Amino acid sequence: MSPERYARIRRLLSLRQPSLTVCLEQLYKPHNASAIVRSCDAVGVHKVHAVVSEDVESPQSASGLRKSAILKATAMGSEHWVETQVHTSIDSAVETLKQQDMQVLVTNLSPAAVDFREVDYTQPTAILLGQEKLGVSAQAKALADKEIIIPMVGMVQSLNVSVAAALILYEAQRQRQLAGMYNKPLLDEASCQRTLFAGGFPNLKKICDRKGLTYPYVNSEGVIEADDTWWQELQYGN
Ligand code: SAM
Repeated sequence: MSPERYARIRRLLSLRQPSLTVCLEQLYKPHNASAIVRSCDAVGVHKVHAVVSEDVESPQSASGLRKSAILKATAMGSEHWVETQVHTSIDSAVETLKQQDMQVLVTNLSPAAVDFREVDYTQPTAILLGQEKLGVSAQAKALADKEIIIPMVGMVQSLNVSVAAALILYEAQRQRQLAGMYNKPLLDEASCQRTLFAGGFPNLKKICDRKGLTYPYVNSEGVIEADDTWWQELQYGN
């Protein structure tokens, strides 16, 4: 890749916030998931979590449509920049987030929920967002540390889920910027390397994914450093 592109990717990686994420529970509309991934990229979220288990009622007739919402979304353009971790249950998703010492905030349209602007997002934080029609599950509410709400004073009961995500993410971004959290790189080098390869060499990344090849090292000039075996596997392997 060109030195300019390498520098641009390095710059975005230096602003990533590995301790801020969202978890999408059973979203079934790819354009919503896609819009949320774009907002995540815009505020520096590096990884999105998604729960895609099959056991929740969906307005979609074909379960495959629902299951692949996040995968379709990430295929719409942001996948080089924002990683996705898929979970098969809300329990395993929340367990993963809590293992990373994240406070888990569940968005819920309840009088008991606190105004989303009253939360400290400089703490490691995961924002749990619910399905377009049904909202978050009872189990998600039970597992979360706190319920948050975006105040609504009009006729409609709720916002579109991607709009809700963007509002909360930008409040988190505002607080983190004030706290100086965008002033020094926070993302580990292994994650940076994955994004440098995925974003700098998208066509090679596709081949690697298809063939199950490990991603190579990208040096400080934006050039791939890999041995002959790797190149041969890339060109001729199945
Ligand atoms: N009837 C559903 C309910 O009661 O939760 C509405 C779901 S809403 C359309 C889809 C998702 O958007 C919610 O699960 C939540 O994540 C988010 N959302 C929408 N409006 C919100 C608000 N005012 N406060 C917090 N989250 C909201």
